[in-house]
Amino acid sequence: MKKLGKLYEGKAKVLYETDDPNLLVQYFKDDATAFNAGKKGVIGDKGVVNNKVSERIFKYLSENGVKSHFVERLDDREMLVKRLEIIQVEVIVRNVAAGSIARRMGVEEGTELKDTIVEFCYKSDELGDPFINEYVIRAFGLASDDEVRVMTETALKVNELLTRFFDERGIVLVDFKLEFGRHNGEVLLGDEITPDGCRLWEKGTLEKLDKDRFRRDLGKIEEAYAEVLRKVME
Ligand code: 5GP
Repeated sequence: MKKLGKLYEGKAKVLYETDDPNLLVQYFKDDATAFNAGKKGVIGDKGVVNNKVSERIFKYLSENGVKSHFVERLDDREMLVKRLEIIQVEVIVRNVAAGSIARRMGVEEGTELKDTIVEFCYKSDELGDPFINEYVIRAFGLASDDEVRVMTETALKVNELLTRFFDERGIVLVDFKLEFGRHNGEVLLGDEITPDGCRLWEKGTLEKLDKDRFRRDLGKIEEAYAEVLRKVME
C-alpha cells in the first residue's frame, strides 16, 4: 500500500488517498479545537494517544460484532481505514447528563438518567452541528430510514460494549459521539473513538479524563489522555 496525496484535512485529522481506491490513511494531529473552532490549541501527543486508543477500541468492537472502517494501525499517528461516504449525521449517546444536555434541560452535570439517550446532530461546522431528529434526517435526505435504524442500533450496541469495557478499567462512560459512513452498500462506524469525542470520568473521584479538560481549561490535559491510553491497554 502506497500513501498518496491529501484528500481532506479536518480539525484533528487528515485523510490521505492510497493506491487502493477502497482504502485511506487517517493521520491523527495534536491540534485541538472546541466551541466550533472558537478555541484552538495543541495537546501534546494527542495524535499518538488517539490513534492507539481508537485502534484498541475498534478492535474490541470488531471482536464483538461491530464493524468499523478500521483496517490496521500503520505507525504512531496513522491508521489504514476503509474509504467511507460519510453520512452527515453525528450520533450522540448519553448515559449521564453532562455538557449540552445538562444546559438544555437545566440540570446539574452528573445527574442520573432514567434511560439511555440517543441524539442526532447535523454534521456542519458552519452551523455548529445543530440538533436534529429522524424527521429532519428524512426530510433532507441525509440518510435512509434503514440507515437511521442501523446507526441507532449500532450506537446502542457500542454503548453497551464500551460502558462495560470502561467500567472494567475504572472509568464511567458518560457520553460519546459516533460518525458513520457508507462502504460498498454497508453502513460502517467511522471517524475515531477517543477522549476527544467521549466524556470519560474516573470512577469514584469523577475526575474528567477527556477533552473537557481542554474546553474548560482544567489543566493536566496530556496527563488525562495518557491515563486513558494506559487504562484502555489494560
Ligand atoms: P455535548 O452535546 O454535550 O457537547 O457532547 C456530547 C458528547 O459528544 C461529548 O462526549 C462530546 O465530546 C461529543 N461531541 C459532540 N459533538 C462533537 C464534535 O463536534 N466533535 C467531537 N470531537 N466530539 C463531539
